[in-house]
Amino acid sequence: MAAFDHEDVLQVHQWTDTLFSFRTSRSASLRFDNGQFAMIGLEVDGRPLLRAYSFASPNYEDHLEFYSIKVPHGALTSRLQHIKPGDKVLIGHKPTGTLVHSNLTPGKRLFLLSTGTGLAPFASILRDLDIYDAYEAIVLMHGCRETAELAYGQALVRDILDSEFFGEAAREKLIYYPMTTRGESRHQGRVTDALVNGQFFADTHQPPLDPQTDRAMICGNPDMLADLRKMFDGLGFAEGSNARPGAYVFERAFVEK
Ligand SMILES: Cc1cc2nc3c(=O)[nH]c(=O)nc-3n(C[C@H](O)[C@H](O)[C@H](O)COP(=O)(O)OP(=O)(O)OC[C@H]3O[C@@H](n4cnc5c(N)ncnc54)[C@H](O)[C@@H]3O)c2cc1C
Repeated sequence: MAAFDHEDVLQVHQWTDTLFSFRTSRSASLRFDNGQFAMIGLEVDGRPLLRAYSFASPNYEDHLEFYSIKVPHGALTSRLQHIKPGDKVLIGHKPTGTLVHSNLTPGKRLFLLSTGTGLAPFASILRDLDIYDAYEAIVLMHGCRETAELAYGQALVRDILDSEFFGEAAREKLIYYPMTTRGESRHQGRVTDALVNGQFFADTHQPPLDPQTDRAMICGNPDMLADLRKMFDGLGFAEGSNARPGAYVFERAFVEK
């Protein structure tokens, strides 16, 4: 049996010069947990060219959604950015990853901390009704360089707040905190700094971090991951894994080559 399905591209949305999202059909046999990733890609010269991608759609939808960077001269994304409805995309059969709710011990407030396309797994998790039942408050922090790069997250949050299924719970529990390091926006600076220097807590009137009641999932660039892991370790948060649930889990949004 092939290691991947050939799915149809249904829809493509170009968000900026460097970001796009797309939807594909979904094999009925594909199973994944919200927050997981799989190998996806294109057939190039008769061979699969695959990269890790987080599912941005929740696991109950009959389509799949992905949120992608366009890396200049990137082997996959220099091609993938040109896909159009009707084209075929390869979707791997083996979803995996640590950003799943079951890898966290029970808590009261959940932090979803992201930069760039690291938002993708949280687009899946935030459309899971169970997450609103499990926590009293859910914080989504998303850091980008430029203001335009926040657009996918802003549209996502609007849809969630309007949802007939979890809109009411989200309006009560979701705290959305978008940030930019260069472009103008309501919150300037880096996600890590806003947590460390207290800017986030002052702006939102939230209590400080507490390893007893707070849980966190992190997905972002290598520097952000390193800084936040250091912060959480220093505060006494235990790292969780597929083998043993803990107070925080993380996944790389990409690998530096
Ligand atoms: C667990 C995991 C999940 C991932 N999920 C996603 C996802 O949902 N969406 C997505 O766009 N990418 C995701 N990636 C990155 C993805 O696998 C590819 O690296 C990306 O699609 C670029 O592929 P490429 O062949 O064009 O360039 P590559 O040769 O793979 O990358 C070249 C360089 O581009 C930079 N880069 C790659 N990806 C990114 C990115 N997402 N943001 C900023 N810089 C980047 C890095 O410096 C990298 O060394 C994920 C990676 C991992 C490890």
